[in-house]
Amino acid sequence: SAEYDVQINELIKETVSFLENEARSNNIALNLRLQEDLPTIRTEGSQVQQILLNLIENSLDAVGENGQIDIVTETRGNEVFILIIDNGPGLKPEVLDRIWEPFFTTKEPGKGTGLGLSICSDIAHKLGGTIVAENRAQGGARFTLTLPRRN
Ligand code: ADP
Ligand code: MG
Repeated sequence: SAEYDVQINELIKETVSFLENEARSNNIALNLRLQEDLPTIRTEGSQVQQILLNLIENSLDAVGENGQIDIVTETRGNEVFILIIDNGPGLKPEVLDRIWEPFFTTKEPGKGTGLGLSICSDIAHKLGGTIVAENRAQGGARFTLTLPRRN
């Protein structure tokens, strides 16, 4: 494996730069709320980036016009938390039950493979971390990726 000291905030900025045009053309704001002095973590940056791309793409699909997507980083103990929070419709209970299954999608044919979150959870576990999906009290979805500072 290719583990290095990864600056998660820089990885997020790079990932967001790939999606900025898509966001701007749909009038969606990508708001970064990144903890200053976030410690580097020993992990596979390209794998973390794969997760971030999938999660942010899903939020872009969910929110539609005038959406707000917040990307937050925090540290607690030996773990780094990356939260992707959106003001879309959130996840109905019957959807929330199935989102981690390969090929489960609510998108039109050709728009989604249903593989994104299944791949994200496989990668997160391989990196020693977890991903949790929740609905927010005020509406919208929140995905929390937790990674150990050292795998
Ligand atoms: P795909 O994006 O190809 O549909 P995913 O595995 O990435 O596959 O996501 C599975 C399903 O989870 C989506 O089809 C959608 O119903 C739901 N989902 C994922 N992220 C969100 C989100 N941020 N808000 C609402 N629903 C979501
Ligand atoms: Mg997806």
